[in-house]
Amino acid sequence: MNERKLQELRPRKTFAQHWLKSEKALNEIIRAAQLKLGDRILEIGPGTGILTRRLLPEVQSLLAVEIDRDLCDKLAKEIGREQKFLLLQGDFLSLDLPSLLAQFPTFQKPHKVVANIPYNITGPILEKLLGTIANPNPEPYDLLVLLLQKEVAERLVAKPGSRTFGALSVRVQYLANCELICTVPAGAFYPPPKVDSAVVRLIPYQIEPPALDTRKLDTLVKLGFSAKRKMLRNNLLSVVERDRLTQLLEKLDINPQSRAEDLSVAQWVTLANLLL
Ligand code: SAH
Repeated sequence: MNERKLQELRPRKTFAQHWLKSEKALNEIIRAAQLKLGDRILEIGPGTGILTRRLLPEVQSLLAVEIDRDLCDKLAKEIGREQKFLLLQGDFLSLDLPSLLAQFPTFQKPHKVVANIPYNITGPILEKLLGTIANPNPEPYDLLVLLLQKEVAERLVAKPGSRTFGALSVRVQYLANCELICTVPAGAFYPPPKVDSAVVRLIPYQIEPPALDTRKLDTLVKLGFSAKRKMLRNNLLSVVERDRLTQLLEKLDINPQSRAEDLSVAQWVTLANLLL
């Protein structure tokens, strides 16, 4: 689509609409999705359908959820007749996908997610797709390829000990293996967002060993990261005595002066399990 056509589509700010126009970024997304002809894809926010059109010929089925009625009408006219395409109009966050899909018995549940998501609801979308530490999605997707804000992407793929490793890193990495595919400059979109973007690939997994009490782990992570510059043993005072924590950390071969961002996800789990 050329720039003028994109402008005619008058992007809506409230829906965080930024149309991807970079062939390079599209190619990266498609490659990262490792598509097979049997794949059943979920796309959130198809917008003008630029990614949708790339995905369709390569997969068995594609379910797209778009909140904007006008865009839905347009997409339905353009590609709505494709048998393997199902377009649902609504807010992805409040849709009950399983019960909606029950109305389309020939349409199988998607097992991969490929999407350029609306950045204003990135956190809630991640939570809906992956679940939470205490409440993981019981039917996890096999793979998710998402185009999102670069700063969020960096937190998702951050390694322990780095400045960007935070509560979000632990929460998501507990549920999925996270990989940075590429960064995408703001100029790759019309209109350009205020921030740069990045493509990430998340592969949900069952962490080993799992947390025995996931709620406990959730609370620990929340408290641990609550005051960033403080040592872990100070942030966790309300759940464990200083001396006991020092002992536990030494037992785990972790420096007792560590801060929350120094512990790996596995270490967080071990610590939570020892604190039961
Ligand atoms: N995939 C398109 C558009 C990305 S912009 C492209 O790459 O060009 C984000 C899209 O998400 C917009 O189409 C917007 O209308 C849609 N959107 C925003 N909030 C949504 C929600 N809650 N549920 C579903 N779609 C939403």
